[in-house]
Amino acid sequence: MPELPEVETLCRQLQATIDGKKILATKIFDHKLVNIANVRGMRICGVCRRGKTIRMRLHDGRSIVIHLRMTGRLLWREDSGKDPHTRWRMTMADGNVDLVDPRRFATVTVVRDDEAPSSNDLMSRFDFRKFMQRQAPRRVSVKTLLMDPKAVAGIGNIYACEILYGAGISPARISSTLGEPEWRKIFSQARRVLKKAIARRGTSISDWRDLYGRAGKNQTGLSVYGKEGEACSRCGGIIVRIRQGGRSTFYCPQCQKEQGTGHGRQEDECRSQAGNRRLFARR
Ligand SMILES: [Zn+2]
Repeated sequence: MPELPEVETLCRQLQATIDGKKILATKIFDHKLVNIANVRGMRICGVCRRGKTIRMRLHDGRSIVIHLRMTGRLLWREDSGKDPHTRWRMTMADGNVDLVDPRRFATVTVVRDDEAPSSNDLMSRFDFRKFMQRQAPRRVSVKTLLMDPKAVAGIGNIYACEILYGAGISPARISSTLGEPEWRKIFSQARRVLKKAIARRGTSISDWRDLYGRAGKNQTGLSVYGKEGEACSRCGGIIVRIRQGGRSTFYCPQCQKEQGTGHGRQEDECRSQAGNRRLFARR
């Protein structure tokens, strides 16, 4: 399933490919997609990501909003060919943007674009105070919380595993037992992991492809995801797999402790205060 880095990759590529271009036609190939307002003749005025949705702004103030869900992807085609799972097509003078989606859960809507950016997106505007007040005290595992779109936008199973490994925190820890320095460590790792994945055009474990049909490169840079039984590159311990909420979690029990050890706490606090001024200006 495409997560934040994959959707961000598509948005950047769409911005570079179709911004400023006129939509000459659209075509629906799947009757499950209904009530898509007519956008023929509209010009694209920028493409951006909101959480895991793609928003293509139109010059009349509306936006085409695409949610890829499970298997959706967008493909730029300059020829007249068509993938068998193409559900929707938007035609410009020099090519088509096709929605290819074998499981048919993706959605396309046209809306008035007045939605503000969400305050739980780590790559745009993240309200750390609000997170600490409303989400951090919950009695769920830290991994479950990271994957809850109401708490943090766009992080799925692969990136949640990698972020917690980077932060040295067990995925089984209960959120309410984590202190503020630990959360700051998690979010700084989250930004690092997500930025790296965006730079490498996403993670192609299964079917992810970018706008030009190419696989991403981030799958070669993973530390724990899919590495059950392999040696941890940091400590040499063995990476294990557990089940959490019906999903596989991969982690290193030696590097990712069940409890905070207190080691380095002073250092964390110094760093987090500096980070606080830099990243999360107090109100
Ligand atoms: Zn380790």
